[in-house]
Amino acid sequence: MKQDVSKRFHVLIPDDRWFEENIGCENACPVNTRAPQYISAIREENYNLAFEINREDNLFPAILGRICVHPCEEKCRRGLLIDLPISICSLKRASADHRILSSPHKRALRKRDKKIAIIGAGPSGLSAANDLVRLGYSVTIYESFPIPGGMLNVGIPPYRLSREAVSEAIEEVRQLGVEIITDTPVGKELNLENLRKKYDAVYIAAGAHKAEKLGIPGEDLKGVIHGVTFMQRVNLGEKPEIGERVAVVGGGNTAMDTGRSSLRLGAKEVFILYRRTREEMPVDPRELEQVEEEGIKIHYLTSPIQTLSMDGERVSGIRCIRNRSGEPEEDGRRRPIPIDGSEFNIDIDLLIPAVSQSPDISFLPEEIGLEISKWDRLKVNPETFETNVPGIFAGGDFVTGPRDVIRVIADGRKAALSIHSCLGG
Ligand SMILES: Cc1cc2nc3c(=O)[nH]c(=O)nc-3n(C[C@H](O)[C@H](O)[C@H](O)COP(=O)(O)OP(=O)(O)OC[C@H]3O[C@@H](n4cnc5c(N)ncnc54)[C@H](O)[C@@H]3O)c2cc1C
Repeated sequence: MKQDVSKRFHVLIPDDRWFEENIGCENACPVNTRAPQYISAIREENYNLAFEINREDNLFPAILGRICVHPCEEKCRRGLLIDLPISICSLKRASADHRILSSPHKRALRKRDKKIAIIGAGPSGLSAANDLVRLGYSVTIYESFPIPGGMLNVGIPPYRLSREAVSEAIEEVRQLGVEIITDTPVGKELNLENLRKKYDAVYIAAGAHKAEKLGIPGEDLKGVIHGVTFMQRVNLGEKPEIGERVAVVGGGNTAMDTGRSSLRLGAKEVFILYRRTREEMPVDPRELEQVEEEGIKIHYLTSPIQTLSMDGERVSGIRCIRNRSGEPEEDGRRRPIPIDGSEFNIDIDLLIPAVSQSPDISFLPEEIGLEISKWDRLKVNPETFETNVPGIFAGGDFVTGPRDVIRVIADGRKAALSIHSCLGG
């Protein structure tokens, strides 16, 4: 007699909620890295397998294992239910550092006759290129800097992200057949219109490299270098004049990296000015601890209001005001409210405003008719990453402003699939 199995066993068909509740780490990762599987492989000392699982899911385990913002760890059940989250990110690094050999990425089984151009060789462009070439397309990346990698090479400092790890990842993408043309900014001799005619699809992943200003008097004095520009110059081998006392303004990755890099370049004293409290800083708490360990002094609830100069040419100080925390704003953080009469001055030789970056959309030709939002961002369909102009896609920091590596890798992967479904049917 046929038995009804649902009466004998408790049958459960997993839905999104089930995955969220039971495999929170994997679900929280923008590319759904199979953390439980690679951690099991590490438990069996199979670092090669752990690395392969990671590479298949997130492409750059050696990079992400060092700098990922690891949204997985926030959802780790061990952290939520027992004590602390498992160090999923560091284990990713272990898989990369302890593997003996890794096999080359699987190449495409068949070549397609369609060509794709990518603007920007940062993690989002590289991730889209990696997936598209493996689907059989010919892919060319145009990059304005002399080296590929985007912020992995010109933003994040080498003491946090080894350049060998970046070069190796880029080399793997090249080995798959992706052509990377450096020193070639799109928008000059070569423009988007040319690319549109020559290629079947274009993915714009030009990042967010335009420094946001503080908007205080004297920001154009000598001795004021904006954070993203400072990191680019240092990472490309320049040695900017630092002096002895440096003040950095901001509370994110760029602020911490410019402060710590200034120390390494010889500054005697570094101050970080942050307008809110320590708890509201957007930076990883572990990085904040390292900043403090290195002796950088952080003035919380402090905003700069004016630069000072003794000779009218070069910055010699910064005038600040203390804040108190006001009502919570939309993102839950409390609004800083200046306290009258609390102004004070700090003597400095260099000021590094590092509050934010935005995308530079000036290279997009108006004639193409791309839709731009009121925030000066290129509009895309958030599911398909397609713009209003057929064949032009965009993703990464370029469409949202600064985010993080794992999220822009996810954009690149989704955009690649979307391009494939448009071109391949
Ligand atoms: C100092 C600093 C520290 C950071 N630390 C971390 C961290 O610890 N963890 C983390 O996850 N994220 C971190 N980030 C953020 C992360 O680096 C970015 O979110 C990520 O690199 C964005 O990737 P992307 O590919 O969208 O853009 P990018 O990495 O910016 O790459 C865009 C590329 O496009 C090129 N390009 C621009 N315009 C053109 C053009 N017209 N023609 C041709 N090429 C062009 C640029 O030169 C660049 O190479 C940090 C960022 C900075 C600045």
